[in-house]
Amino acid sequence: MTAVATRVRTPTLEIDLSAVAANTRRFVRATASSSAEVMAVVKADGFGHGLADVARTAVDSGATWLGVTSVAEGVAVRESGVDVPVLSWLNPVDVDVETAARHRIDLAVPGVRHLAAIAAAGAGARVHLQLDTGMARDGAAEDEWRALMRAARRAEAAGDVTVVGVMGHLAMAGESGHPANKQGLLALLNGVELAEQAGLRPVVRHLAATAATLTDPATHLDVVRVGAGLVGIDPSGTTRLCTALRLTAPVVQVRRVAAGVGVGYGHTHVTDRATTLALLPIGYADGLPRVASGRAHVLVAGLRRPVVGVISMDQTVVDLGDHVVEPGAEAVVFGPGDDGEPTVADWARWAGTIPHEIVTGIGHRVERSVR
Ligand SMILES: *Cc1c(COP(=O)(O)O)cnc(C)c1O
Repeated sequence: MTAVATRVRTPTLEIDLSAVAANTRRFVRATASSSAEVMAVVKADGFGHGLADVARTAVDSGATWLGVTSVAEGVAVRESGVDVPVLSWLNPVDVDVETAARHRIDLAVPGVRHLAAIAAAGAGARVHLQLDTGMARDGAAEDEWRALMRAARRAEAAGDVTVVGVMGHLAMAGESGHPANKQGLLALLNGVELAEQAGLRPVVRHLAATAATLTDPATHLDVVRVGAGLVGIDPSGTTRLCTALRLTAPVVQVRRVAAGVGVGYGHTHVTDRATTLALLPIGYADGLPRVASGRAHVLVAGLRRPVVGVISMDQTVVDLGDHVVEPGAEAVVFGPGDDGEPTVADWARWAGTIPHEIVTGIGHRVERSVR
């Protein structure tokens, strides 16, 4: 039986910016009653959706801040033409303060060493003091906070920095109601109070990312930093957001094989019947997790077909059974799921990871098609 299928030429990632726009508007609505502003976090190439495209789309849809994790990403945001405040965190201690100031990029400051280096540059950098609110990851430890406040006040008085914000981040926001979330919020509010006691006047307090924004209005404060949610990923599992990605690959070869044939490296799969195998020119170098071998499926001519054998660097084999297609037929690796194709969440489950890792892992040689 030969099925008719859409024809494609090369592995292609289709990016639907209207989904990003719809998600952004949803977060703007979700923060309307708390009157918090939305910072669109466009790190990691806009979560693999294109930094400039996501930045422009989010700002056009109501985001009033942009967040990145390096000055280089901040410069890329500026070069895309958007004109809202931009904040970079995760900066090295010798961050290029001049470039940041020239491109009006605010800098997160996670401790006294960073502050000293930024103040020494004398560029009048706008800074957000970053407190570790319970992750032991980024930000100043609570026992360093008072010293950081004093140093920030001195640097501000000298005209070397302007303190505009205080920020934290939550470890357990995906579990609404977890006590660590309340503790994180209290830690941040306490940190703000200590800043004010030191004579600082931070005007933007920010803590919530996607999950807390959707589940806990008390965490919204002045700005929410939303990344995953803009591209349709909800770590809280409470909200159906719009998917922006569709990944397709052409069938490049079709072969009929007998029962008992070993497929791919290591013969991890042996056919249990005569069947037809299709070869896709896409593999783990393109972001298909090798660990999903043996569980993953793709959609070919309207039917979900299993991936068989191990996913190779550049190649993946699919068992078509008796539903044969011609070379050139389109296989849908993932998409919104409306036509029965797997989703990014399915791939994450097959790989034992989170959707974030799938969407940020699509390789450079996959063609991008933005609409
Ligand atoms: C990545 C990141 C965010 C965005 O988190 P999402 O869950 O993707 O919305 C917010 N704040 C910080 C500090 C981050 O590193």
